[in-house]
Amino acid sequence: MTLRGHAALVNTLGLPASAQWYAALDDIAQLPALLANPSVTNLPLTVLGEGSNVVLRAELPGLVLRPQMRGMRIVEWRGSQALIECQAGESWDALVQWSLKQGLAGLENLSLIPGSVGAAPVQNIGAYGVELADRFDSLIACSLQNGKPRSFSPQECAFAYRDSFFKSVEPGAWMISSVRLLLDRDLAPVLGYADLASRYQALPDEQRNATGLRELVCSLRRSKLPDPALLPNAGSFFKNPVVPAEQYTSLQLRYPDLAAYPQADGSYKLAAGWLIERAGWKGKRVGNVGMHAQQALVLVNYAEATGAEVLAFADLVRQSVAEMFDVVLEQEPIILP
Ligand SMILES: Cc1cc2nc3c(=O)[nH]c(=O)nc-3n(C[C@H](O)[C@H](O)[C@H](O)COP(=O)(O)OP(=O)(O)OC[C@H]3O[C@@H](n4cnc5c(N)ncnc54)[C@H](O)[C@@H]3O)c2cc1C
Repeated sequence: MTLRGHAALVNTLGLPASAQWYAALDDIAQLPALLANPSVTNLPLTVLGEGSNVVLRAELPGLVLRPQMRGMRIVEWRGSQALIECQAGESWDALVQWSLKQGLAGLENLSLIPGSVGAAPVQNIGAYGVELADRFDSLIACSLQNGKPRSFSPQECAFAYRDSFFKSVEPGAWMISSVRLLLDRDLAPVLGYADLASRYQALPDEQRNATGLRELVCSLRRSKLPDPALLPNAGSFFKNPVVPAEQYTSLQLRYPDLAAYPQADGSYKLAAGWLIERAGWKGKRVGNVGMHAQQALVLVNYAEATGAEVLAFADLVRQSVAEMFDVVLEQEPIILP
């Protein structure tokens, strides 16, 4: 582990940013000594993974920590279920592929989500009807105050839609170092998305398995989402807003084709992409920034945008959606600093 000054920070939105100090940790045992280093004591600390869910505005003051601890293993079997453990520095999709190679199902719907394993619990990553919380057992996180590790149960993580304890309750206070998940030898396919369900049903019998489902998810994602390496972006830029039933009903009267999903508590989750498209922002560009022409929910950096430009553009979209539908869009990526 080496401490570097003024290091450039990689992020999928392609925004210019750097860290005052930067250290990549490949062993969690290095953390207490690092925190005691006189160059960084009392400076602010930020943990950064692969930079696929952040809007970076400038130079981050203090020390940026990049967990690079590696390793994945089966801890124990519980009947047909396996408890697996993965270190925070592994890439999420490498974990999905590894689990399938072990003959374990459960993560196939979460295939190809960019980012590190350590960041996955922060916003409770989700796709195609599955969330990390559905497969979660526990995690270890180290306090950024003193480097001490603590185990977190599912309840303590307070997972919610694209949210957790680490994102909303104590943001920036912990570094997640490893994650444990419970997977199963038997596939229980989650096919709530019509597109995915019809393609899965059309597969020949021998491909109707977890790997076959992963392939379908990968091809759907590749056809729908712009590749950040070609067109920098952070995936969905806004969360799907949840509104009370009365508000949904009155919106639905005005907009009969409103895209919405009923929730267990009687509220409705509105498709943010639909709202953005109807407000006229799909494919619209202002300067270096725009909402993608095929995916209204994905904000893209067409050229050399800065974090400030991205946030100003996002405000325009938010204001116009609020004026038209009386619905406030909440941003998904985290703004740093
Ligand atoms: C093309 C594209 C598609 C995407 N699709 C999806 C999707 O389908 N579903 C979905 O949920 N998300 C999606 N995302 C968002 C992103 O992939 C996830 O949020 C991912 O978990 C971020 O991982 P990261 O390592 O890049 O985190 P970063 O962007 O580096 O960090 C995100 C946040 O987590 C914190 N953090 C990072 N690592 C740790 C750690 N070890 N301990 C504590 N805090 C930490 C950071 O401080 C920051 O606040 C997409 C992004 C892109 C670019």
